[in-house]
Amino acid sequence: MRKPFPKTGADWPTLDAAMSEMSEADIDWRQGRAPLYVFHGSDAAHEVGRQAFMKYFSENALGGRRAFFGLKRMEDEVVEMGLDLFQAPDGAVGNLTTGGSESIFMAVKACRDWARTQSHIKPPFNIVAPFSAHAAFNKAADVMDMTVRRLPTGEDRRADPDAMADAIDGGTIMLAASAPCFPHGVIDSIAALSELALERDLWLHVDACVGGYVAPFFQRMGRRIPLYDFALPGVRTLSADLHKFGFCPKPASTLFYRLEEDRERGLFHFDQWPNGQFSTATLSGTRAGGAVAAAWAVMHHLGVDGYTAIARDLAAMADAYVSGIKAIDGLYLVADPDLTIINFAADDFDIFSVAEAMGTRGWLPGLTQNPKGMHAMLSMFHETGREEYLADLESCVEQVKGTNSQSGLKAVY
Ligand SMILES: *Cc1c(COP(=O)(O)O)cnc(C)c1O
Repeated sequence: MRKPFPKTGADWPTLDAAMSEMSEADIDWRQGRAPLYVFHGSDAAHEVGRQAFMKYFSENALGGRRAFFGLKRMEDEVVEMGLDLFQAPDGAVGNLTTGGSESIFMAVKACRDWARTQSHIKPPFNIVAPFSAHAAFNKAADVMDMTVRRLPTGEDRRADPDAMADAIDGGTIMLAASAPCFPHGVIDSIAALSELALERDLWLHVDACVGGYVAPFFQRMGRRIPLYDFALPGVRTLSADLHKFGFCPKPASTLFYRLEEDRERGLFHFDQWPNGQFSTATLSGTRAGGAVAAAWAVMHHLGVDGYTAIARDLAAMADAYVSGIKAIDGLYLVADPDLTIINFAADDFDIFSVAEAMGTRGWLPGLTQNPKGMHAMLSMFHETGREEYLADLESCVEQVKGTNSQSGLKAVY
């Protein structure tokens, strides 16, 4: 039966209780039992983000130019801080979006509009990407009537620049790369792709959605991180999500353009309707003011020192997961992670059966389908439960090993 629209109203305590009851069966994500969807840096950063979000709860970033000057300034400063972090040259620009998918969509849209002006590219258009690139590239391509050519990655699970070069044809407008890719947690060979993009006069988009706001701090604490940002001359646009390892509240991502003229290509302008000039840099019109303010506040709260301190904790935790997994007989890492995304597999037994057994113990299984593996994106939520996770994992492996168990689980993002 369909739920009827409520006839009478209810007060907050009643609603609060009803909502909590509805969520009773949720995964215990605060204790690190969700391997994706949620992120944590520090309690203090979380609280700053929440306060700033609530302070600008009602304001609309769409009206930043005409009404909410404080928000507009915060948005501009968030973009400038990002340009600084990603070593963008003078003249580079950017804007906030509501998430990685929207950032990628806007980059593809700007690229498509550029391609229409290029005599060396003819429709139908395509994007050349590694198999490991995010599904959002296909979503954007689907809407804009393009295709994505996904090429096998190398042994190390990084994009294979030679395979990508071979796939380029007269309809190719964009090369896509990830820093890192979501499935295996490795940063693609972006230096080589940057050269390829310049050589063939193509647009290279770096999807640093998941890693953008953490990789620079891994670097500062002394980790070797492959180059992926605007220091590479072929990188034309770069997306990085604040609401992931920027530890800012949802919905917030950033998209950066090396060239001002490219951002122009991403914009939408229209005035043939009663209300006159309408211009946006995003798919969305109305945007939560809270998300802009919270991003500004969290970035200022943490600063380079705060992000680097969290990076140190994250790296130590990810190392402990990696060595814990390697110590379990039969499991191996699908790739050597550059940051905190891990993907591991087994050859002698069915890894999905292990994942299913973990599920019965309250761990939401993260899965990859090709190759078959278990997956986790580790943030500071995952520190408390680490030993319990590894102990449960070992015992689930023991349970499955030597059986012919084949789980019917399907990998779902
Ligand atoms: C999360 C993610 C995206 C998409 O971001 P949303 O904020 O979920 O829209 C794109 N690329 C990568 C590598 C991601 O991890």
